Amino acid sequence: MSEIPYKTYLTENELPECWYNVRADMKTKPAPLLNPATRQPMTPTELGKVFCDELVAQELDNDTPQIPIPRPVREFYRMYRPSPLVRAYFLEKALGTPAHLYYKFEGNNTSGSHKLNSAIAQAYYAKKQGLKGVTTETGAGQWGTALSMACAFFGLDCRVFMVKCSYEQKPFRREVMRTYGANVTPSPSDTTAVGRKILADFPGTTGSLGCAISEAVEAACTNEGYRYVLGSVLSQVLLHQSVIGLETQLALRKLGVKADVIIGCAGGGSNLGGLISPFMGEKLRGEADYRIIAVEPASCPSFTRGRYAYDFCDTGNICPLAKMYTIGSRFIPSPSHAGGLRFHGMSSILSELYDEGLMEAVSVEQTAVFKAAEMFARTEGILPAPESSHAILGAVNEALACKESGREENIVFGLTGTGYFDLTAYQSFNDGTMVDQIPTDAEIEAALAKLP
Ligand SMILES: *Cc1c(COP(=O)(O)O)cnc(C)c1O
Repeated sequence: MSEIPYKTYLTENELPECWYNVRADMKTKPAPLLNPATRQPMTPTELGKVFCDELVAQELDNDTPQIPIPRPVREFYRMYRPSPLVRAYFLEKALGTPAHLYYKFEGNNTSGSHKLNSAIAQAYYAKKQGLKGVTTETGAGQWGTALSMACAFFGLDCRVFMVKCSYEQKPFRREVMRTYGANVTPSPSDTTAVGRKILADFPGTTGSLGCAISEAVEAACTNEGYRYVLGSVLSQVLLHQSVIGLETQLALRKLGVKADVIIGCAGGGSNLGGLISPFMGEKLRGEADYRIIAVEPASCPSFTRGRYAYDFCDTGNICPLAKMYTIGSRFIPSPSHAGGLRFHGMSSILSELYDEGLMEAVSVEQTAVFKAAEMFARTEGILPAPESSHAILGAVNEALACKESGREENIVFGLTGTGYFDLTAYQSFNDGTMVDQIPTDAEIEAALAKLP
């Protein structure tokens, strides 16, 4: 071991005071959300029917670089933050790479992922506005778990629409949410008009994130005192997640280490956006350069095979339109895809940065992802979430390229969470029955043909 510690913890006092809004440093701002009926930019009044007021303001703020973290949110953060930045010495050794690998570990809370960073902020603003509760969707269950923890803390009602196949495959996740007081409904359900329509149009469907979003939005808009909250994709979520990047930046500074490559998994883009924001800020201001790589599943490849266009965020087409890299809101990944990251679109902020060539993206197959997860578990000790394992694989591939060329790069990646609730997926990997389902060009074309 060298002079760099295995784990770098910041002190509680070093927890950031403000979130960083990368949009303030972007020359071309992300395209605005559009009203699906009028195709005009969504006004604060229109957005205020769906989201709490303070979050609407954050969603529309393209200019303020520093946004103070409210004191109660910062106090909650202290229960599980600052999170450690870990030098992956054992993984480096196993790979025989001259590269230095660091990961920022966000799995150190009961929800098991970074999602709590935004859940607690969103619950706080809902409480501050005097609301009764919030509605949301959850796919694999991490977001629903994080939100139920946050709502329990502030005494808010929490209604979660959980994608039906996950509801059935992940009963334990559901019980964690119920333990924190959430009401969990499998989606599509007959409790909403849009759910009943989806059930009629696609009988026997196992659901998708897009369906669950439609139901949650309807439930928020038709119940007095409720608003909808979303755990990824939105610019406000990337803002809250910037706490990950800010802590990483400070820890690296204290170590005297300059990152060369920053890697994260990308579903809707929130952890990656949060991790890279401060570094992207330096890049946009011309202060430093970094290679930034998004790693996405080959079975749901929005960056690498999608189109940069306005699309619906949900299957029921009731949400605002967002300009983003998308493979179409009608796209439903194969049920054999176990690795998470199954949203059809991508954060508008990351989509714009990617379109400008400021970051790269790669897609990877799930058997390779689980192979990397297994290696990581055996070397670094942590059982990673399948989503996080996309970033691990991205980092491993980069470290092997360094070995090939003898480059001694500093590679930083986001380890977003733990995989204790993903053991069905690990089981199919261990049994050798896991398959790689990659959509054909025709399937993606068919979903893209339905773009608005
Ligand atoms: C939700 C989740 C992701 C993906 O979401 P992003 O918004 O793309 O960050 C990644 N890892 C874990 C553990 C998650 O729970």
